[in-house]
Amino acid sequence: MGYQPELIGGHLVVDLVNTVAWRLDDSRRIDRLVTSAELSDWCAAVGLNRGTASLQQIREVRETAYRVLRSLARGEVPTAGDLEAVRRLVVEALTAAEPPRVVGVRLLDWEAGGLVPTLGLAAGRLLEREDLRRLRECSDDDCGWLFMDRSKNGSRRWCSSADCGNRARAKRHYRKVRGS
Ligand SMILES: [Zn+2]
Repeated sequence: MGYQPELIGGHLVVDLVNTVAWRLDDSRRIDRLVTSAELSDWCAAVGLNRGTASLQQIREVRETAYRVLRSLARGEVPTAGDLEAVRRLVVEALTAAEPPRVVGVRLLDWEAGGLVPTLGLAAGRLLEREDLRRLRECSDDDCGWLFMDRSKNGSRRWCSSADCGNRARAKRHYRKVRGS
């Protein structure tokens, strides 16, 4: 069985960023987009055509998106270099995009034509249309996954409560039991 990504990011570009597990722990980090087959598996899981996009291209998009989104999730301003890289990504995506045959389609919703432009336009939509105060980093020290907190009261702390959330609960429980 191939790579079956966990799509918990709440947005395509965030899910792309989350193809690295344990990003904040050098000894445990697992990059799930290392082989061409893994990229094809990821595309199938998110319902996109891989087309001619190379692994290297997509990994570059991912790392640019990660740096910008991580900064935003931490309430920091992304670096000028990273913002420039995102700007280029969006501009190149629009250059490749097809104007729609119907009126009223917003620019970032144009037909992208290709995986890299699709991700570029998606990144543009994320930055322009989403409430970025809802963008969060998992509370686990090492996880590093990002997600859009779409909970009603904006209280989501974990990438997945079945995973990092459970581990944190188990840790708390262990401390309590040991402490009593
Ligand atoms: Zn996590």
